[in-house]
Amino acid sequence: ITTTRGNADVVIVGGGQSALTVAYFLRRTPLSVVILDNGEGPGGAWVHGWDSLRLFSPAQWSSLPGWGMPTTEGYPTRDDIVSYLAQYEKRYDFSVKRPVTVTDILRENDGFTVHTDQGLWRARAVVSTTGTWSHPFIPTYPGQSTFAGLQIHSSQYRNAAAFVGKRVLVVGGGNSGAQILAEVSGVAKTTWVTQTEPVFLPDDVDGRVLFERATAKWKAQQEGRLLQDPPGGLGDVVMVEPVKLARERGVLHAVHPFLAFTDSGVIWQDGSRTVFDAVIWCTGFRPALQHLTSLNIVDADGKVALSGTQSVEVPGLWFVGYGEWTGFASATLVGGMRYAKATALELAQVLITRPSVSQ
Ligand code: FAD
Repeated sequence: ITTTRGNADVVIVGGGQSALTVAYFLRRTPLSVVILDNGEGPGGAWVHGWDSLRLFSPAQWSSLPGWGMPTTEGYPTRDDIVSYLAQYEKRYDFSVKRPVTVTDILRENDGFTVHTDQGLWRARAVVSTTGTWSHPFIPTYPGQSTFAGLQIHSSQYRNAAAFVGKRVLVVGGGNSGAQILAEVSGVAKTTWVTQTEPVFLPDDVDGRVLFERATAKWKAQQEGRLLQDPPGGLGDVVMVEPVKLARERGVLHAVHPFLAFTDSGVIWQDGSRTVFDAVIWCTGFRPALQHLTSLNIVDADGKVALSGTQSVEVPGLWFVGYGEWTGFASATLVGGMRYAKATALELAQVLITRPSVSQ
């Protein structure tokens, strides 16, 4: 028998920045909101960031609505952002249940049952904000399982200590790849493999330019204009200090992908071989949507068809965060705000005209 833990108008699955932003915009409505998060504490994916991770924009560009992130010297650190998110959810007194893992969501009458490892919640609407961190992506290469060295994904990387004096292959050309390469190359002999030539932003701009691009795209979309895609995207490498230093040391050079693994390294396209002790996969993430298996709405790319931020096939289910498919830059602190707000507005429009299930 599954224990019923409660009823709410809105259950938000996941308790990172996207969840908090949606909850913020719902707090002036009469709707009851419960956040179910499987983290041990507040902070979402930021808790798992590497030790030296810093945001790529200053605090005022890394803030959620209502209460801004306290300014810091330089760009905020991983711990600054975790502490900010912890204070934020306390400040607004959101109802966050942790650790609770949502395992399944089923439709029931005109609402949902949300199944978890702690029992069942009933909701009139669900917002999924589970992010991507728990679903790392690693491409497959021939011979990969025979490689005897260490393989980790960037989601497991904490610091360079395990790589001192080693020969390390860093795979992936985004910001994670560039930053981890920059750090590890200080203590190890590194080779950097990227699918295409990495795009570096000019030295004098930071992550703000990425938000400006996202805003330009959003405005064009609102006005029904076709915007010539501005060059680059969120994957462009921001020249944070450690990356600049790596460039000065002459290690910020990417090479084309290899063909296959051997038991001690890789074979390149020209047939030559290199020995490696370790591989760090900075190859990104996929949406963490395992809780939607029964609803059967996740496509082969791991995404869901949306109208705005609402599921086309399952009305009453919204998505915030994840990546461009839910909105331009929607998985960033500032970029997610407009989509969280739009979601809260729609939720209010749909739910407040109907009677509440919670008694
Ligand atoms: P998350 O933070 O991943 O939160 C999702 C939560 O849901 C987690 O607590 C997770 O445990 C929980 N969860 C997952 N599945 C379940 C389930 N089934 N049941 C219950 N709970 C579940 N953005 C910026 O704005 N500025 C930056 O400088 C910046 N730098 C970045 C650097 C790196 C290296 C990375 C990877 C990202 C960066 N981002 C940055 C992007 C972005 O801010 C983060 O990815 C952000 O964590 C997304 O927030 P979220 O709330 O959508 O998801």
